[in-house]
Amino acid sequence: MSILVVGSVAFDSVETPFGKAEEVLGGSATYFSTSASYFTQVSLVAVVGEDFPEEHVDNLKKRGIDTEGLKKVPGKTFRWKGRYGYDLNQAHTLETNLNVFSAFDPVIPERYRDLPYVFLANIDPELQWKVLDQVRKPRLIACDTMNFWIEGKPDALRKLLKRVEVFVINEAEAREFAGESSLVKAARKIMEDGPRILIIKRGEYGALMFSEKSVFSAPAYPLENIFDPTGAGDSFAGGVMGYLANTGDLREDNIRRAIIFGSVMASFNVEAFSLSKLSSLSFDEIRARYSEFKRLTNFEDI
Ligand code: AMP
Repeated sequence: MSILVVGSVAFDSVETPFGKAEEVLGGSATYFSTSASYFTQVSLVAVVGEDFPEEHVDNLKKRGIDTEGLKKVPGKTFRWKGRYGYDLNQAHTLETNLNVFSAFDPVIPERYRDLPYVFLANIDPELQWKVLDQVRKPRLIACDTMNFWIEGKPDALRKLLKRVEVFVINEAEAREFAGESSLVKAARKIMEDGPRILIIKRGEYGALMFSEKSVFSAPAYPLENIFDPTGAGDSFAGGVMGYLANTGDLREDNIRRAIIFGSVMASFNVEAFSLSKLSSLSFDEIRARYSEFKRLTNFEDI
């Protein structure tokens, strides 16, 4: 079953202790749709400027991603500049230039409006809201955000969360959003506002899923070389949603499997700058790393 994703398509300039990339393809929707495309069909809604090369659009199409909803308008494409220190879990934003996103009014193409899975990738929560006004009874609505919006538009985000079932957020942002240092308390507080499932991304420490009944902890894959963590969160979400849409099973056991597939996709993504690794995988590699996760966490009761 297909996924509708709305989010940013960007040029990123990224610096890590291991290298630098200038104006490379990035954006929350780009990472998400590339990752999810290994599991299911994805339809993308976003905006880019006239400076966006057709070659990037063609590469998304080659992955089977439907780009009818990717609009090119006069102006410059969204740009994000970030830096990571040796703690690769924490991105430091140096510059955010919304450019064509500041006047973006998302129009969901008619044939996308009945898609069963909706992912609101990281963009302005007011735009995420407008998307939900145009879709018809999706089976699952999930959403991501970041500190830029938590600090800039907290009320719009809180209002949006009442309409969302799965909320994906990183650890520092969960603490900041809830105003709690305990992650468990932060999770419970955020869930009071709506989402039935909360997934907290913890970078190299993995991910935690909170539901009404339980907590699930997934590790991250112990990688020797991490080059660029940009897009880890979005490729994680792409794996989670892609697997859920592929299987159509929203029971908790299956959401746990989906979280491991999300962790697998994020682990590949961080092994290279931009989308170079994420866009050149085979499903066999993905499947093999999933099995490694199983061995990594397997232990017997006493
Ligand atoms: P993550 O998966 O959390 O590492 O997200 C990385 C992507 O988020 C980058 O490729 C950026 O282009 C994009 N991004 C950064 N800031 C924003 C923002 N304020 N709104 C939307 N997308 C953003």
